[in-house]
Amino acid sequence: MTTAGILGGGQLARMLALSGAPLGLRFLVMDTVADACAGQFAPLLVGDYRDEAALAEFASKVDVATFDFENVPAESAEWLSARVPVFPNPRALAVAQDRLAEKTLFRELDIPVPQFAAVSSREELDAALAIVGVPCILKTRRLGYDGKGQFRIRALADADLAWDALGAQAGKVGLILEAFVPFEREVSVVAVRGRDGEFRTWPLTENWHVDGVLSASLAPARTEAALADTATGYARRLAERLDYVGVFALELFCRDGQLLANELAPRVHNSGHWTIEGAETSQFENHLRAVLGMPLGSTAMRGHACMLNWIGAMPDAGAVLGEPGGHWHDYGKEPRAGRKVGHATLRSDDAAGLAGALERVGKKLGREDQVAPVIRALQGV
Ligand code: AMP
Repeated sequence: MTTAGILGGGQLARMLALSGAPLGLRFLVMDTVADACAGQFAPLLVGDYRDEAALAEFASKVDVATFDFENVPAESAEWLSARVPVFPNPRALAVAQDRLAEKTLFRELDIPVPQFAAVSSREELDAALAIVGVPCILKTRRLGYDGKGQFRIRALADADLAWDALGAQAGKVGLILEAFVPFEREVSVVAVRGRDGEFRTWPLTENWHVDGVLSASLAPARTEAALADTATGYARRLAERLDYVGVFALELFCRDGQLLANELAPRVHNSGHWTIEGAETSQFENHLRAVLGMPLGSTAMRGHACMLNWIGAMPDAGAVLGEPGGHWHDYGKEPRAGRKVGHATLRSDDAAGLAGALERVGKKLGREDQVAPVIRALQGV
């Protein structure tokens, strides 16, 4: 019996455990809090990721280790990797934890990125503004997620405000200034690479964010095949350079027919949740297959799929469950403002059918705003 260890016990670990059950796997999840929602389905070890005794206990009980959370300290991942196979490898994790290292690697691999510059002092912010220009976004290099740790600079006069907001972080996690991209669309490529180097991607996904948090994803994205091939090529370059094993997502901005890389998420990703019902093999199952050295499953789509995130509190399930292609995912979390508590996936054989289902669900739940951009994309307007 193989036991897969997962560092981080949120919804990603929960969905990994659910998808691993048919493969005959056991799991051990480690999290800093006792009510981590993956603990409802897998044994949970509560401990700090820097606590060697807790990590040693974790390592002694698992055959392989992976992550639901990319901000596990890179040193802890290194420490673990001396005791048990860890996928993705700690170096890949370290690069993805640091927006500056990540963007520098993108550049090295000829993957276009928005203009950027490192900032570690107020003077450097002025120097960076001269390079990057306005509008731009000041971001923490580390530990930012879902739009947190970011300040939008619209004019040079905002520099003091930006420094007031994030300057204190400069010495702790570092800062990066990035050009603001007036993108037409945001897309992501979710990819998987096996231990033997086999590489696959799911069809390109189009994403909509509200206040920096993913609101909806649509697959396949409305885009030209050439652009999807370009995105896949970027993901392959990254996977090969990092000797990556497992699933990751590359988030991209699309502007004037060009792609600009935003970030690399070294784990299963929210924009790939639709793969549970919308693809032959889900991102969760393929991640497990990859880290365990099993053959990868097909990433082919089944028709068209849209994922809607539920933030803060779960809406009524009936509207989604009443749809023939409606699927419900309640993460078993306590409601809290801004918290991802669940999602729904709507799937249909054709785009018109999916647009109809979204319209009905949006209306019943009073969430017309959330579904509207997806319906427009499906209708090609
Ligand atoms: P991030 O945490 O960097 O993925 O940012 C969250 C979201 O904020 C992105 O998905 C975009 O919607 C927006 N965003 C971040 N960086 C930029 C940028 N340089 N230009 C325009 N929008 C951005």
